[in-house]
Amino acid sequence: MAVQRDIIEVDVLFVGGGIASLSSALHLANLVEAYNEKVPVGGAETKLEIEMAVLEKGATFGAHGISGAVMAPGPLKELMPDFVEKGAPLEAEVTKESVYFLTKTGKIKSPIVPPPLNNHGNYVVSMAKLNQWMSELVEEKGVMLFAGFAGVELLYDEEGTVIGVQTGDAGVDSKGEKKSNYEPGADVHARVTVFGEGSRGSLTKQLITKFGLDKGKNPAGFEVGVKEVWEIPAGRVQPGEVIETMGYPLKTDTFGGGFVYGMKDNMVSIGQLVSLDYSDPLLDPHREFQKYKAHPLISSIIEGGKLVQYGAKTVPVSGYFSIPKLYFPGGVLVGDGANLFNSMKIKGIDLAIKSGMLAAQTIFNGLVKNDLSESLLANYSRALLQTDEIKETKKVRNFHQAMTRGLVLGMTAAVGQFLFKGRVLADRLGAHPDHGYMKKVAEKYGTAKPSPEAIGDMKYDGKLTFDKETDVYYSGATHEENQPCHLRVKDLDICYGKCAEYYQNPCVRFCPAAVYEMEVDEATGKKSLKLNFSNCVHCKTCDVKDPFENIQWVPPEGGGGPKYTVV
Ligand code: SF4
Repeated sequence: MAVQRDIIEVDVLFVGGGIASLSSALHLANLVEAYNEKVPVGGAETKLEIEMAVLEKGATFGAHGISGAVMAPGPLKELMPDFVEKGAPLEAEVTKESVYFLTKTGKIKSPIVPPPLNNHGNYVVSMAKLNQWMSELVEEKGVMLFAGFAGVELLYDEEGTVIGVQTGDAGVDSKGEKKSNYEPGADVHARVTVFGEGSRGSLTKQLITKFGLDKGKNPAGFEVGVKEVWEIPAGRVQPGEVIETMGYPLKTDTFGGGFVYGMKDNMVSIGQLVSLDYSDPLLDPHREFQKYKAHPLISSIIEGGKLVQYGAKTVPVSGYFSIPKLYFPGGVLVGDGANLFNSMKIKGIDLAIKSGMLAAQTIFNGLVKNDLSESLLANYSRALLQTDEIKETKKVRNFHQAMTRGLVLGMTAAVGQFLFKGRVLADRLGAHPDHGYMKKVAEKYGTAKPSPEAIGDMKYDGKLTFDKETDVYYSGATHEENQPCHLRVKDLDICYGKCAEYYQNPCVRFCPAAVYEMEVDEATGKKSLKLNFSNCVHCKTCDVKDPFENIQWVPPEGGGGPKYTVV
């Protein structure tokens, strides 16, 4: 029997409760409010009565908010000129910056902070806190907020226009059977839907395929950021101090870098980004991050302190040429989910807010004209492409692709924005999807078993360095255990066959939360893949990096996942 679902009708639906969606909802609410204030009483014009809703898959708004995070404040200032007075949860304005190149035990300080890394006037923020604060402002405007509700299915009308999403069912067991607490998800219908699902959004992926939004574009490319927040002894790092590093522990064929950001109350945010176009099948981004913390520069900061929180996420770094078409019948894409990110500056919050605001402006104009057609929504894309933020990404359009080809070309791209107007060898460098760059173990290491030194194995001391299981505890990640696994492995034969033979099952390494475990029966030698899905921190690395594209991440039951509060 068909499941009976509640139908919720709104005018504008925001899928994903991150900073892009929340900024968009707030801006739209402000525009509608200002419009209505000007409508004369008793005249022919009528006030706009607009229902809006935001869906967030995390247990609370902010629970899945994680980022570097140093924010360029321009777009937030446009959205809310008095954001400081309104109590924006800013950790500190950036006051001190340094850049180091690290060797295994040494460091070389750059005499200058290269312009792309200059954070003068920017703020250190916690995304979890910023999202939570913004959600309160949005709610005060009368927007309906639904935390713990993931959009799991796209809804279309008979003409193929997106008319909203279905939220996930609750109370389904691991075999797909209804439990006693079964609650069917609702169909949320909207005149227009704004997708701000964040990096590698699962519905966004479907939209890109369905409407060919990536036609003629470079494939999306990602970095995974693995991060911890520490409370450290007073005086070591000032609030607003930013330290950026290159080099150790990453080898020269792997792009990425580390950071330390000074927060309030003697807290620091420490992390490392690893570009997912890496070729080494034995690389483990979490292990590289632990090695990073053991480097003297970083250990001298955190020694004697205590770990407060752990998290990981991907960021879309492939730049200008991988921004998909941003509109389609019935909706638009905003923020990280639309690959709106400046990879050289490692910044996306400003673009997320800007894209959310411009989407809101376009939708507002459409609501006033009663026209939310695709051609009206195209105005959003036109407006965004004219912004300084997008023009900046255009100047560095080849940076990530050049870095993939090696440090020399990458550095050429870094300076190329001034000398060659962003050209590096050509006006546009192509790229492969990240999963295509992984080499077979034999190709990378030869036929002999790689030594522990070669792969950089390490012992975790439980003081500065932690194994994945311990770190996951500090992310607060939990999921209802008796539900269908949200990591869909399409063909297990690939895992036990080609993937084991060629790559030694890299999922057990690239997942920063120990979700994938390959168990071997001692008697028979038979392998079986165990999925500890409750650990999942929703970083999406597996969806991006599996060499056979054999893993698909789908939203679990709403409310599952990490419970970030300060990252
Ligand atoms: Fe990230 Fe996938 Fe591991 Fe979840 S299972 S933490 S999405 S790599």
